[in-house]
Amino acid sequence: MEMEYRRLGGTGLKVSVLSFGSWVTFGPQLAGNLAEDCLSAAYDAGVNFFDNAEAYAGGESERIMGEAIRSLGWERNSYVISTKLFWGLGSGVNMRNTLNRKYLMQAIDGSLDRLGLDFVDLVYCHRADPDTPLEETVWAMSDMISAGKALYWGTSEWPAEALREAWDIAERHHLHKPVVEQPQYNLLWRDRVEQEYAPLYEGIGLGLTTWSPLASGLLSGKYLDGVPEGSRATLPGYEWLRDLLTDADRNQSVARLQEIADELGCTLAQLSIAWCAKNPNVSSVITGASRVEQVHENLAALEVMPKLTDEVMARIQAAVA
Ligand code: NDP
Repeated sequence: MEMEYRRLGGTGLKVSVLSFGSWVTFGPQLAGNLAEDCLSAAYDAGVNFFDNAEAYAGGESERIMGEAIRSLGWERNSYVISTKLFWGLGSGVNMRNTLNRKYLMQAIDGSLDRLGLDFVDLVYCHRADPDTPLEETVWAMSDMISAGKALYWGTSEWPAEALREAWDIAERHHLHKPVVEQPQYNLLWRDRVEQEYAPLYEGIGLGLTTWSPLASGLLSGKYLDGVPEGSRATLPGYEWLRDLLTDADRNQSVARLQEIADELGCTLAQLSIAWCAKNPNVSSVITGASRVEQVHENLAALEVMPKLTDEVMARIQAAVA
């Protein structure tokens, strides 16, 4: 099945409706050849957007992705790559949990250095920072673009109100505007995308690159019978996810969804990813994988999208209600 490319909101940039990100996996689970195999499996299937962040694996994720892309020899114009700034890598003042101008201007240079690139295509403010005036952040992000270090900027998990205000500030001062938001979106986590941001799609042409389409693996059905060895719930440092992944109520919804997937002749992971991509306000669904087999399985969700008729969508809705 051919990859579908969608405009990133109101921009002219086209991104594959399924993309690939490196949170958790690059570093603790994947490096070197294994990372390369996953990236090239995605690229060969038409994925053109690869998501990363400064904070992933303390900077290692950017290094691994940068090295892999160089080794694969991809032409720079054939892929879109992102990073995200906010959490920081240092522990001192102005080095973490901030979107102040000083941090942002130095952090982007660090990311470019680790990736081995002159520019990223997308740079996100990884969270909102109530301690920095919005105008300062908007100005710094716009300057980052003017300096050629990034082509577009956006936000991740910002309240709609702050996002709208940032856009208005940029409009008022003729600065580069935020064009994309990166929220969590999956069958069990829908409010922000479906309700809170609803006025922004038409209103400011907001694009979305959404994360955790499988709710960290829960929506693959792998936690229905306990915690499989080697899965995300077993990783040191991710204990906080274990309760979510083994939650009985949520797994009951997952069991109901599994029946629908069985009837459609696809895996639950494919159904869950296809369901996210079915939302026309989503520009790209960022998938994650700890193994190349998962990449193949997940990208085949493209074939499931046509099977999500109104009737099937209504049954899915009932299963998670
Ligand atoms: P998912 O919810 O899809 O979880 C992916 C994980 O689920 C994999 O690493 C794997 O973990 C498991 N999995 C994937 N496919 C399958 C399958 N077919 N069968 C069984 N298990 C499977 O996405 P992520 O949470 O990884 O998020 C995707 C991307 O979104 C990230 O890489 C990152 O780029 C972005 N993101 C952004 C955030 C933000 O704040 N902006 C926050 C989080 C993510 P395992 O095999 O180890 O169990």
